[in-house]
Amino acid sequence: MNEQASRREFLAASGVATAAGAFLLGGMQEAQAASHGKAKGSVKDLIPGAVGPDGAYALPPLPYAYDALEEVIDKETMTLHHDKHHDAYVKGLIAAEEALKKARESGDYSAVDAVSRKAAFHGAGHFLHCVFWASMAAPETGGEPSEALAKAIARDFGSHEAMLAHFKAASKAVEGSGWGILGYQTAGERLVILQAMNHQLLTQWAIIPLLCLDVWEHAYYLKYKNARAAYVDAFPKIINWADVSKRFEMMSHAA
Ligand code: FE
Repeated sequence: MNEQASRREFLAASGVATAAGAFLLGGMQEAQAASHGKAKGSVKDLIPGAVGPDGAYALPPLPYAYDALEEVIDKETMTLHHDKHHDAYVKGLIAAEEALKKARESGDYSAVDAVSRKAAFHGAGHFLHCVFWASMAAPETGGEPSEALAKAIARDFGSHEAMLAHFKAASKAVEGSGWGILGYQTAGERLVILQAMNHQLLTQWAIIPLLCLDVWEHAYYLKYKNARAAYVDAFPKIINWADVSKRFEMMSHAA
């Protein structure tokens, strides 16, 4: 099996590895392969069910009965978790995006900080729960990692047992509310285990950055001193839209 085919199989077959948002997106090469019709599905399928057929954010139905995981997670918990908690993230994300649209239309950005925080919190919550539901199955029915995923786990963690021990330790040690995440890191095309505090600190897990602006003082202080706004206002002059567009088209199959 050649490298590209191996990567495709890895991404298509690994429910866990396609699970956790940004770090799990299959990478530029995979997106390019998809744009040529060589890969199954589209990149949005990496976050299963996050949007409905009309492209709007939606609460995906559970892929099994509420009591299917009873041995590990009880029916009432699953029902409340999915129908109430996850639904609230979907509604919160929609509301935040509507508020941001109104801000653009009115030019009143006085609440942009608070609303952006809501968008990150609810968006990340929505995306991670989509992956969470999809990456579970009734006890003893979930099978084994594919051959390609098993190889990647052995390569990146030493063994399946070491990966699970690391994953469990990270999940147990999350400070406050959060997640343990096995992720596909596009930068190094490798698996990583992360903790997330809340859902979002401070990102949405389904985001591949297309355009970045560093607003640490180290990025502008010598020239602008404390006037970050002046630096930000000047930034559009130096945006490389060809480069930004290239990244977008890789991810969106628009090429
Ligand atoms: Fe939850």
